Amino acid sequence: MHRVANLFCKKLVGKKLRATSPNGRFIEGAKAINKKVFRKIEAVGKNLFVFFGKGEVVHVHFGMSGRWSIFDSSKAPEPTPTTRLSLEGSGLTAHLSAMTCAHGDQEMYEYKRGKLGQDPLSNSPDVDELWDRVRKSKKAMSRLLMDQSFFAGVGNIYRAEILFCARLCPGLKGNEMTRHEFNRVWETSVHLMRIGRDTGRITSISQEEAAALGEPHRRRYVYNQSRCLVCSGRVSNFKEAGRTVWACLHCQSTNKSGISVEVATKPFNSHCAKEPLQVRRKTATKLTVKELQNELRKYGLIVKGKKSKLVAALERHIQDLSEHTADLDLSGKNNQEQHGYHRRLVSHTKTQNAKSRHIEDGNREREKKRKRKVKTEKQFCTVRPRRSLRLKKNQV
Ligand SMILES: [Zn+2]
Repeated sequence: MHRVANLFCKKLVGKKLRATSPNGRFIEGAKAINKKVFRKIEAVGKNLFVFFGKGEVVHVHFGMSGRWSIFDSSKAPEPTPTTRLSLEGSGLTAHLSAMTCAHGDQEMYEYKRGKLGQDPLSNSPDVDELWDRVRKSKKAMSRLLMDQSFFAGVGNIYRAEILFCARLCPGLKGNEMTRHEFNRVWETSVHLMRIGRDTGRITSISQEEAAALGEPHRRRYVYNQSRCLVCSGRVSNFKEAGRTVWACLHCQSTNKSGISVEVATKPFNSHCAKEPLQVRRKTATKLTVKELQNELRKYGLIVKGKKSKLVAALERHIQDLSEHTADLDLSGKNNQEQHGYHRRLVSHTKTQNAKSRHIEDGNREREKKRKRKVKTEKQFCTVRPRRSLRLKKNQV
């Protein structure tokens, strides 16, 4: 869209054009802008807004197969059955085929523009505003990137490549992200989409890098690939909202907060496959807010806050408990009921003790043998004379 906007800006801005609708699906709009000055064209994500005369606006969205081509009038082809708008003037002809071609005014522009998020190719994006909304969202990044009200202009291929280049799991939720991770996503989006705008191709690997990695014709890391170029692992894909998400779960599975691809399928309290509380208590994420609060109260911990905070607090405490277990008296003399971790640890300690006893016994036995051997040698061994003495004997 930005490439079209740049081209039309150069060729048509300031010109009065004759507007028609060859396939008859934009007759009213064409009449409204006919012979009015083509003032400005603005690309926002996958949308174009064209401003004519003193307040006419045309909103264009290509959809999957739209295009807006410009020709010298002498060489212009005939319009096709999909040509909704034709503009002619100053020796130029432009044919538009698009899914959406709507006519309106400044108010329509502001309404539609207001629904769109931040465009990585914009000259003045409000990145802080976007971050503010992302960090409050419970949606996975794979969805947020495709949501035009968040990242305007990112499509399915870019989504896969941006997440790979930023080394982020597609399942990572907006509200689980750090600002640093968000910045990585934003900066990668800007970088890759600028390459796309300048070259007309969606490319995430430079030719040099692809050649160095042994696949000189490769242009993308994971989208529509079977093997990851970086780790040689299998590229996974899954369906999400009717589109396929591509990712290398090895390269993208972890980040510094330890979130892995399992985030997408984190254990939850299933209503279809119900489990009793005793079973669910082992997994903090399977507990309801009330159950989490009860558990935390038992340990004398603070019970306020959102569910994610409660889950994190309980998981942290369970982790701490496991670590402190190593300091407990595990001699096996107390008959306290021990949970699984304790039992495993006791049995491990017993085994270790038995092993070390066995080693000690063995060592003691070996030491005795060695002492016996030394004693015997002392009794029967004759001491060899010193070298100097031997030499003297030979000389003699
Ligand atoms: Zn990989």
